[in-house]
Amino acid sequence: MTERNVVTEVVAKSLCCGCGVCTAVCRGKALEMRFNTLGELVPALVGRCAHCQLCLKVCPALEVGEPLLPEALFGRGSKMERDPHIGGFIECCVGYSSRHRMKSASGGMATWTLEQLFQKDKINAAICVGRSPKNDRLFEPVIVSSAAELSSCSSSRYYPVEFSSVLKYILRNEGRYAIVALPCAVTGIRKAQRAVPVLRERIRYVFALACGHGVSKHFAGFLLAAAGLTEAKVKTVDFRYSARSRKATNFAFRAQHAAGNWSNLLYFDGLYGALWNGRFFVPRACDFCDDLFAPLADATFMDAWLPEYTSDVHGTSIVVARHPEVSRLMQGAKESGAFLRPITIARVRQSQSGALAYKTTYLPLRVARAERNGLKIPRSFPRAVVPGGLRERLAKIKHGARDWVCRLSFESRGHPRRLWISVLAAYLQGQRLCRAARRRMARL
Ligand SMILES: Cc1cc2nc3c(=O)[nH]c(=O)nc-3n(C[C@H](O)[C@H](O)[C@H](O)COP(=O)(O)OP(=O)(O)OC[C@H]3O[C@@H](n4cnc5c(N)ncnc54)[C@H](O)[C@@H]3O)c2cc1C
Ligand code: SF4
Ligand code: SF4
Ligand code: SF4
Repeated sequence: MTERNVVTEVVAKSLCCGCGVCTAVCRGKALEMRFNTLGELVPALVGRCAHCQLCLKVCPALEVGEPLLPEALFGRGSKMERDPHIGGFIECCVGYSSRHRMKSASGGMATWTLEQLFQKDKINAAICVGRSPKNDRLFEPVIVSSAAELSSCSSSRYYPVEFSSVLKYILRNEGRYAIVALPCAVTGIRKAQRAVPVLRERIRYVFALACGHGVSKHFAGFLLAAAGLTEAKVKTVDFRYSARSRKATNFAFRAQHAAGNWSNLLYFDGLYGALWNGRFFVPRACDFCDDLFAPLADATFMDAWLPEYTSDVHGTSIVVARHPEVSRLMQGAKESGAFLRPITIARVRQSQSGALAYKTTYLPLRVARAERNGLKIPRSFPRAVVPGGLRERLAKIKHGARDWVCRLSFESRGHPRRLWISVLAAYLQGQRLCRAARRRMARL
């Protein structure tokens, strides 16, 4: 019998987002999450596959079995409005928690919500992302068992994280858990909850961070090298340092040496943002992902990237609430130190207009192009006509050059050479000059 599992059907086609859900549910312990040479976490076959295909049923990259409908999760009775991109929602708010925002990514509302759930005894453990004790990674999902421990896990980690260990822990240990994850992992966790009842019973809340795209671990490796450090010499990394900026959008990357002192700051309006916005070190799965707002999550948290909020350097969050309990928490937010006001769904979409265009308007073009090259992508959007000719060929050259620079910038040990930092900096400068020339031509 031919073996069919996520390694043959997902990893081999570069469609894996690295969530680790397959590895958690594999009863034969045949899978293990490992970094590939591109710095992405993917499952590897380490034991005998029993061909049960459970991994295929829970994988967010595939459409196996009945589609997962939000109605089944939130109940037909719950009064929800609907948006084609955001999915169902009870209400949307914008604001911040004054206690959490200084340490958090944006307004601190994700940490505030978890804290409230602990205080109201709705959960007795939360799965957040914290510093990993493992040698091969900086961060991983960890079990937090009290509100006081939450602050060590706040802020965004632009780093690959996988949930296999924590899901295995939940399978072994009774409890009432809340999980924070990116939209792809939320889908995987929801599918696993459908397939494995004990996960449905124990995981009471699944929260999402909105996601434009993920990155491989080489993204952090490259920034560390640009700041003069390597992973081995680092105590921790802060991807969202904003205290010395003037705008919330211009946060900085910084790293703490093992000795305790912090590196120089790499601001988002420099190399940091050029790498992020240029989609360097982005896994291929993200090129085909249409999930920005995680409609299957009980609540989705995101940055309020709107002009009236970005001038507040400490950060502002938008919360899309789908679970009635989260909506209740938001009603009583003021007494618990959070300042929230309602925001329309159109403004929520507007706050993510760049990422939304990438995941909607331009996505079918990327998929059609990949399918022309023989890759079968599961999708929930219509087929688009791929523009041929010079434009497409130029786009291909651009993507080819980006991949080439990304791959060559790492040696086999995974440390970028100074030479490649210079090559990449020159490449980004070239891109900037081309964009400026294009703008000038358009004006003429
Ligand atoms: C890869 C990535 C891409 C993102 N893209 C966008 C985007 O396009 N637009 C947008 O508005 N927002 C995006 N976000 C979310 C944004 O960075 C903030 O996390 C969000 O606004 C919540 O801020 P907060 O202050 O409420 O959260 P905080 O109070 O800082 O709490 C954040 C919570 O998320 C957990 N967490 C951190 N990193 C990860 C991770 N990698 N996976 C799972 N959980 C994690 C933390 O442990 C913590 O519990 C992205 C986040 C990530 C990690
Ligand atoms: S098919 Fe079953 S045994 Fe094989 S890897 Fe997948 S879950 Fe594990
Ligand atoms: S996307 Fe997640 S479930 Fe699918 S193969 Fe990758 S790690 Fe496994
Ligand atoms: S873009 Fe999609 S696949 Fe990539 S990390 Fe974000 S949610 Fe996951």
